[in-house]
Amino acid sequence: MSSTQPTLPVQKAPMHVPPLEEVLNVLQDGLEKNFSSISVSVVDCPDLTKEPFFLSSPGICGKARLADIGGPPFLLPLPQKDKKFNFKQISKLVDLPDAFMIGAGAGPHHVVGVNCELVCNVHVPKDKDNDLTNQSYTVKVGQKDQGCVMEKMTCTDFCLMGNFLCSEGKPGKVLEVIASQRTGPLNFMSCLQKTLANYYKEKPVALGGTFLVEKGKARLHIMPDFSDVPLNCDDDVNNWLKFYEMDAPLVCVGELVSYDPGLQLRMEHFHCFSQHGQGGHYHYDTTPNEVKYRGYFSLAETIYRIDEPKEGITFGRDDHDIK
Ligand SMILES: [Zn+2]
Repeated sequence: MSSTQPTLPVQKAPMHVPPLEEVLNVLQDGLEKNFSSISVSVVDCPDLTKEPFFLSSPGICGKARLADIGGPPFLLPLPQKDKKFNFKQISKLVDLPDAFMIGAGAGPHHVVGVNCELVCNVHVPKDKDNDLTNQSYTVKVGQKDQGCVMEKMTCTDFCLMGNFLCSEGKPGKVLEVIASQRTGPLNFMSCLQKTLANYYKEKPVALGGTFLVEKGKARLHIMPDFSDVPLNCDDDVNNWLKFYEMDAPLVCVGELVSYDPGLQLRMEHFHCFSQHGQGGHYHYDTTPNEVKYRGYFSLAETIYRIDEPKEGITFGRDDHDIK
């Protein structure tokens, strides 16, 4: 018997999918205002199973779509601990039985023992006799020293929320974005998101994929175990979260959308992992002069809004402004 809920409500919204060359020009113009060096190109996706990315499928192409599952209202003010999801279940709900999924979410507290972050990096095969390729990580706050504890995932459940790019994991044409030396006030993915929002207005454009923080340091958070007292505002949430400065190279996975057509979407959400034991929820770089980013992104055709919380909250969503 599965520990997850048997059926979940799903709403589908088509996305505006402009030609990649058009998006290239839009991003080049927008990112130039925030970084001293920028190069946006349309390229063949490099093999993302290889170093330094170590993803579970070679590419991010083929029926690309976003899954926005649950959300912060399942965590705040107090957690709904029974909100559990499963990678196989999500691949079915997004109509991709052979799905490569990457992105950000909350980890399986019922398996790890405490609330934690999920860095999703999984390939669910169509043939149910084949095993999943699950290279996902959970990241928790260490009990003794409050340090970062990143561990390979040992199950296929996650909890509370998820923001994934789902695709067939195939090679193909993608947007490559290389940016270095941040001169403006926006973090890398906020800059991508706001640039698309300014240009496409109420036509929602969604993208997902992976970017590497190749040089510099970044501010990340890790959710500690659940709070016993209600967290009622952004200050409560920020005092509860544990913040860290972590070192490049960091591999970030996630998605963003330029406009919310009324589905309580998370506008951007990226989590990262590394080969040196550091990972978590990405906020921004702390070394603007040194920082270098390299990212690969696909445009999503559709957003699948899965298990949208009935009651929204106005806090605890995204606070990625550089302080
Ligand atoms: Zn997160």
